[in-house]
Amino acid sequence: MSSVALPEIKSMLTLPGDAVRQIQWRFADRFDLQMLVQSARGVARGTVARLVAAGERNTHEWTPAKDEMLNAFDRAGITAAFMEPEEGGFIIGPKNLALGLAAFELAWVDGGAATASLAGFLALSPIHERGTQEQVTRYKTLAAPPQPGEDRKPWRGAFALTEPIPYIGVDTGMLSGKIRIAEWKKGKEPVLQIDKRGRFITGIASENFVTAAVNSDDARIQGSCVVILEDGDEGTFDRGTATKKLVHQLSSTGDPVFNLKVPASRIVGGYTVKDGVIVPNFNHSEIIDAVFRRTRVPVGLMTAAKMLSAVEPVIRYQRQRFRGAEGAKPGSVRYEQGIQQREDALHRLVDVWAAGEAAASLGFAAARLFDALDPIEKQKTAILKERGIRGGRAEMKALKESEQRAIELLQLNEPQQKPGPEVSARRNELLADPLVHYVLADAEANVLCPATKLWNTGHGANIMREAVSLMGGYGITEDCPGFLANKWMDAQLEATYEGPEAVQRRQLTVTMTSEVFLTQFRMWTREMRHIASDHPGTGACTLASAMSLWGWTLNFLQRSIDPAGNKLYHGQRQGVTFPLADALSWLMASRCQILDVLELEARGAGDAVAGEGLAGTVQFLSDLCHTQAAQAAGEVSRICAELVFGYNRHPQWEEQEHRSCFLASELEELEETMPGITAMAVDVLAADGSHPQKAGPCAGCTGSGEFLRLQSKLTTCLTGSRLAKDRAAETVSKVMIPEALDYPAAGPA
Ligand SMILES: Cc1cc2nc3c(=O)[nH]c(=O)nc-3n(C[C@H](O)[C@H](O)[C@H](O)COP(=O)(O)OP(=O)(O)OC[C@H]3O[C@@H](n4cnc5c(N)ncnc54)[C@H](O)[C@@H]3O)c2cc1C
Repeated sequence: MSSVALPEIKSMLTLPGDAVRQIQWRFADRFDLQMLVQSARGVARGTVARLVAAGERNTHEWTPAKDEMLNAFDRAGITAAFMEPEEGGFIIGPKNLALGLAAFELAWVDGGAATASLAGFLALSPIHERGTQEQVTRYKTLAAPPQPGEDRKPWRGAFALTEPIPYIGVDTGMLSGKIRIAEWKKGKEPVLQIDKRGRFITGIASENFVTAAVNSDDARIQGSCVVILEDGDEGTFDRGTATKKLVHQLSSTGDPVFNLKVPASRIVGGYTVKDGVIVPNFNHSEIIDAVFRRTRVPVGLMTAAKMLSAVEPVIRYQRQRFRGAEGAKPGSVRYEQGIQQREDALHRLVDVWAAGEAAASLGFAAARLFDALDPIEKQKTAILKERGIRGGRAEMKALKESEQRAIELLQLNEPQQKPGPEVSARRNELLADPLVHYVLADAEANVLCPATKLWNTGHGANIMREAVSLMGGYGITEDCPGFLANKWMDAQLEATYEGPEAVQRRQLTVTMTSEVFLTQFRMWTREMRHIASDHPGTGACTLASAMSLWGWTLNFLQRSIDPAGNKLYHGQRQGVTFPLADALSWLMASRCQILDVLELEARGAGDAVAGEGLAGTVQFLSDLCHTQAAQAAGEVSRICAELVFGYNRHPQWEEQEHRSCFLASELEELEETMPGITAMAVDVLAADGSHPQKAGPCAGCTGSGEFLRLQSKLTTCLTGSRLAKDRAAETVSKVMIPEALDYPAAGPA
């Protein structure tokens, strides 16, 4: 028997530690963020884990212990992570990555705890994004934890958009909350009457202020806005009953009722008076768009943390499963490996791990992108303001030219672009344009944010079911190490609140077809091909082929109609647009995962801690990339094939034609082995009337040739992906884990 010498593969010895993560998720040079991670982890695996173990999730009531958890967040610096240094914070500059990291650490143990901290930020976000300077200073300072020597309780906040049925939920247009003028004395600030009922409002049990979306019910107020309500305002501030949640019980949720008088200065972002009418500077849609595009990213990261947090408890369970049984002596395979002797158990855990890596990479990439976007967005607003343009359609129109310039810049960076002084002068000119930078980052963020929320939480919920199943019966008990069943259910809420999956798909339907994004996407596809040539083990080749197939399919569907003559790619046609949005999200997650491993490989050696055993870690994480890329490619291939072929109708005559076309292609293949068969068959078919004049593709198959070529390329690019999975499984069966989980599983605190 001959054997082939395979290159030596390094194995990962221990679970990826902080040093590895800091490089992958790009905060190795951010000491402030590293400290935040450590302190959030301390609260999560200490205070929060003890609350869960003590059964605090068994009641949806707000208890003193849960309230104390908020104080623990304050002490640990988690609350202050949202604030500027002058408001009582400690992080300078944009904070999207910071908030994402804190949410990730808290959700590693409990999603409700993470939500309790995020709800306060969500309440402040409308003020932070669009508030007047006075509003920003007042509420962020009040919400900041007390500074040393100060004796005050920080204000808590809630964000009230969702209303009782039949008013707003997914559709945020039909507000029933009302704003009227209660009193407007000449020369004085108007007093407003606010009537708002909320449904499922987080943080409601302990909040001191609420940012609420309301619609005008008064001819003297234009449109809608967001107003700030305080618990000391005149009127009714009723927190309502607690929602009987099955999930996230460490945060409070309820259906409040507000009937209050507030000064007009509480309109978020201020207002002007035109012809005796109050015109809010921002309507509620403008504000919630600015808020959600950022706050949805940490939610996606929460589900990523759940998936990754499942790995260690499952490995421990699998390995220890048969210890103590008769015949299972230390050193024996049964004793040491337990269920990990079984391939399927390992492969499924590899899938959980790979999805968790991809979700984290996607979410952190989105968070970093918003950190980069924040200052550019401010610059854009200032430039447009100078030109007398503010918000809405006027802004979109003004940025059209910048979009063309951005596309031109991307094209100038193409490899086929011949270098020359004119090209580099033009490139430098475009590079110096802040609006070009803005539209590029904005187009990317408009896809990465909904993709993170959609894929991480939706696919993440499915993956958590897998993780639970790997624990057997233990998985669906309260005692399950790592609280996996809680996390499974919690993931479903993360897929729902701040806009369920339909909202993210709807957004992607629009943003993924922007010309700027599609130019970037083509560039990324080429980038993946390039990566594939020197890092084939990452699955970049598979991914590049899947990206090409997706791009081709989108283009095809945008130009195609169904048999009734209706456009296939259309906002109302969710059967087409939504699956394509899903497919894109798979691609984005896989791409980010690969890029993070390349970053680790490039920089890991320069870090004393990450450098140790780097080759093995990179090999393992690359194998996870390959496994994930293969899954993404499979999803994309399935979805695209269904959409390209599924809208062809086969009525009688078409069926006939299609049959002939199908037979013709079959015959072509047979011709190779049985020369002359085609001529014979054509005669037969002509005799029974089913063959057209000449063999060739029918209408249904026209254009599909290119699709099939791309799809078959994708299929062959799967080469090696199962070998990668086998290798990853082998590592999972050997990697060292700590003796015990570093937070309590069950029982009294
Ligand atoms: C625990 C919890 C905490 C929450 N916290 C807050 C909070 O702090 N503040 C706040 O304002 N809200 C909060 N919410 C509300 C949450 O954001 C909404 O539940 C969510 O946006 C969905 O609205 P809905 O429940 O009314 O669903 P609906 O609008 O009734 O939608 C139900 C389903 O119908 C389908 N659907 C609806 N519209 C469309 C469409 N256009 N296209 C395709 N499919 C569609 C989708 O499948 C969707 O999931 C919270 C909810 C929960 C459960």
